[in-house]
Amino acid sequence: MKADLLELGAADAARAIASGQLDRFELLDVYAAWVSKSAATTGAFLAIDFDFARDQMKAMHPGPLAGVPMAMKDLLHIRGLPTTCASKILAGYRPAFDATATQRLAQAGTVFYGKLNLDEFAMGSSNENSAYAPVHNPWDLARTPGGSSGGSAAAVSARQTPGTLGSDTGGSIRQPAAFCGITGIKPTYGRVSRYGLVAFASSLDQIGPMARSAEDCALMLETIAGIDARDATTADEPVPAYTQAKVDFRGLRVGLPKEYFGEGLDESVRRAVTDVETWLRQSGATVKPISLPHTSYTIATYYLITSAEASSNLGRYDGLRFGARAIADDLESTYNKTRGQGFGPEVKRRIMLGTFALSSGYYEAYYVKAQRVRTLIRRDFEQAFAEVDTILTPTTPTTAFKLGEKISDPLQMYLNDIFTGAANLAGVPAISFPCGFDQNGLPIGAQLIAAPFAEATLLAVTKKWQQDTSHHLKTPPMCQAETAK
Ligand code: GLN
Repeated sequence: MKADLLELGAADAARAIASGQLDRFELLDVYAAWVSKSAATTGAFLAIDFDFARDQMKAMHPGPLAGVPMAMKDLLHIRGLPTTCASKILAGYRPAFDATATQRLAQAGTVFYGKLNLDEFAMGSSNENSAYAPVHNPWDLARTPGGSSGGSAAAVSARQTPGTLGSDTGGSIRQPAAFCGITGIKPTYGRVSRYGLVAFASSLDQIGPMARSAEDCALMLETIAGIDARDATTADEPVPAYTQAKVDFRGLRVGLPKEYFGEGLDESVRRAVTDVETWLRQSGATVKPISLPHTSYTIATYYLITSAEASSNLGRYDGLRFGARAIADDLESTYNKTRGQGFGPEVKRRIMLGTFALSSGYYEAYYVKAQRVRTLIRRDFEQAFAEVDTILTPTTPTTAFKLGEKISDPLQMYLNDIFTGAANLAGVPAISFPCGFDQNGLPIGAQLIAAPFAEATLLAVTKKWQQDTSHHLKTPPMCQAETAK
């Protein structure tokens, strides 16, 4: 097997195919062989269909991603493949249409061969809320890959896909990217159409690329971004050529928010992020301390607002319109039985929390209050971006934790979003990229946050970091034997 082909990222694979050096069917075969051998090791796949991919390959669109095969988070519709959202309630559901983001990838020449595991309806930080199977972190199979895009991050890291899209409501692209040693960007709210992405919390959800390099993320983002008549929240902003983005480090002002470097941060993570800071200074950037004073309200605000929106969004799963239906005597008991059997415990917890927060008598005290605090969090960023161009933080306080370690304590699990949730509440773009490894050989992620629609800055800084360092090129142990062949 030509396992070295698995080392090609999306952009390199597309270039090799376009120049005639690489046969696109051969590349697909290499993925088919490796995925069939390794899918059970990571648990990253919920559906695999290489015949479907071969058919698309025959009718492939020419374009900047022509012939590049990919698997996608199973929250995004691809006509011809099932969408389960890792929930039993959508077992057997096959969407009749494509998501705009996956359709735009297909129009650029991508073909799809599978759907990737996640926390049920994207609710979670460890992928353990999947109704089907846990996902294992390729760097240490006893550990979680993070969540909710845990299958996506594990698959990219384990060379089971050259790149993919995730969705990020409170960190679901960035936290698993950090845990699995890959690059992931959550764009500005409205930058990418959410049409065909199953909704979790509509005012925060964003689709974004996950890949092994900033270059691949840039290529995918410039392919999927832009206004879409099917999603009224998409912004009518021109899409820059992200792959060409450059940054002048001499003019770059970077903020270090003191609230993100306090107690509870692992020393190894602090050190690795400090290396990024040092590199930024050496490259000519100005780095200064800043404050985002409402940071401590992030988790409470995030879980109130997202649960409220989820309780409304998930009302459509009633056993009549989509997926699985439990057989019962009347309508009311059909609803109850379908939902009782179909939703997992975390989804039920959030529906109940959200319903409570929206109920009369509590609405003002919880939901409205949370919205007010959300505004304060957004203003923190507006004020910060009057002084700096980007904000550097750790992506997560720790590296990947063990499977089972936090699953019985939802509040501990929620604390995973402590550094990522604010960007969603504020609607601003943020990227996570590999910046080192801890004493156990586990990847560490650094996060850069920017003002709305300044994705080009994030991608250009990360690309330069990746030209100067090699963390993103390291291969997890489970692939090393394979790629050495
Ligand atoms: N961990 C967060 C949650 O459980 C993030 C989820 C996400 O971004 N989809 O809500």
